[in-house]
Amino acid sequence: MSLILYAIPFFLAFIALEYVISKRKAQQVYRFHDAVTSLNIGFISETIRSVLKLMSIFVYALVVEQVAAFEWDLKNPAVWIVAFFMYDFFYYWAHRSGHEVNLLWASHVVHHSSEEFNLSTALRQSWTNQIFYWIFYLPMAIVGIPVKVFVIIALLSALYQFWSHTRLVGKLGWADRIFVTPSNHRCHHGRNDYCIDKNYGGTLIIWDRMFGTYTEERDDEPVIYGTLTPLNSWNPVWGNFKNYTTLWRDMRHAKGLHAKLHVVFAPPGLVKTSTDQTPLALNTQRFETPVTRWQPIYGWLASGVVLALVIELLRVAPDLSWPARLAFTCMIVLNTAGLSRIFEGRANAVKLEAGRCLVMLGPLVAGVWFYPLPPVVRVGALGVLVVSMALLYLLQRDGTPSAETHAMEAA
Ligand SMILES: [Zn+2]
Ligand SMILES: [Zn+2]
Repeated sequence: MSLILYAIPFFLAFIALEYVISKRKAQQVYRFHDAVTSLNIGFISETIRSVLKLMSIFVYALVVEQVAAFEWDLKNPAVWIVAFFMYDFFYYWAHRSGHEVNLLWASHVVHHSSEEFNLSTALRQSWTNQIFYWIFYLPMAIVGIPVKVFVIIALLSALYQFWSHTRLVGKLGWADRIFVTPSNHRCHHGRNDYCIDKNYGGTLIIWDRMFGTYTEERDDEPVIYGTLTPLNSWNPVWGNFKNYTTLWRDMRHAKGLHAKLHVVFAPPGLVKTSTDQTPLALNTQRFETPVTRWQPIYGWLASGVVLALVIELLRVAPDLSWPARLAFTCMIVLNTAGLSRIFEGRANAVKLEAGRCLVMLGPLVAGVWFYPLPPVVRVGALGVLVVSMALLYLLQRDGTPSAETHAMEAA
């Protein structure tokens, strides 16, 4: 099971705390649809990444075994210090490539698709980036950094990066020039001209200062969060694959191998896309759809179900066949996609969601899920399904909001 999963209760507690503090300060930091989307993307990314991570760790271990240049003693503090600096250095280059290579941007863009910046944004992680990023850390395996050290350092780095996603911590003086802090990571998430392709660091910001990608947050120009080509959707599936579809279309339109390779490997800003007719200029509008009366209760309940199913999947995964795992994962993904259709006021979204809830009754009643947990867990799950159906009835009765989306001036 992914170790990060154990940190999720703490992440959620800090998100709740950030929300309460922001309310007290009368500072709007969270929007309902955006936060739910970030969390659902994060929950699913943990299930997918847990499998992909195992594969990358397997390859890493193989390289250590076959070609390690040195043998390190785990008790020697030097191995931990060297590993920390090496990991952070390669993280910088992996992250920079994630922004400056079109194929990798297609994956990393998910993390930047939120037009808010808060602790829930930290959890909005790509479902596919583990396919690519392990390659960047292989030099650590080649010098023989043991797998255990690599895994622990990677985990600590991921945990560290959580706190840098907040608007509630201001500038921190000298720390902003040594470490990745909320101030310099806010710039990284900005779509202002001075923020584009800046501050790639994971734990240390010194790499950006060394390689010319460092910028300081400006008091005279507040950061506008998001990407120059906005996602304009609450759908986690579209968020994860939209740029791949554009990439595929652009590759098909490109004439000749050289042009096709250019589409795949050139920086996103240099790739002339077949579909993107909008000028890549800063706009200060954010994607917004109406929050109807019952949406918050249904949205949080449905997200709780997603988290419960993710935990259940990770619990039973070792005993499942690969097709069964895939089917389970697809069903969780469908949960989030169905919810986003309600958020976006799509036609028949509520009816489709009700149909999905009915389908979920099957594995629950048949005892496929939450087995052999005590019956009370299954009864509780059944209760949640009944409440979900009742809420869907109320959502349907209230009518779906217009599918037309509302643009809102960023604060
Ligand atoms: Zn980034
Ligand atoms: Zn970030």
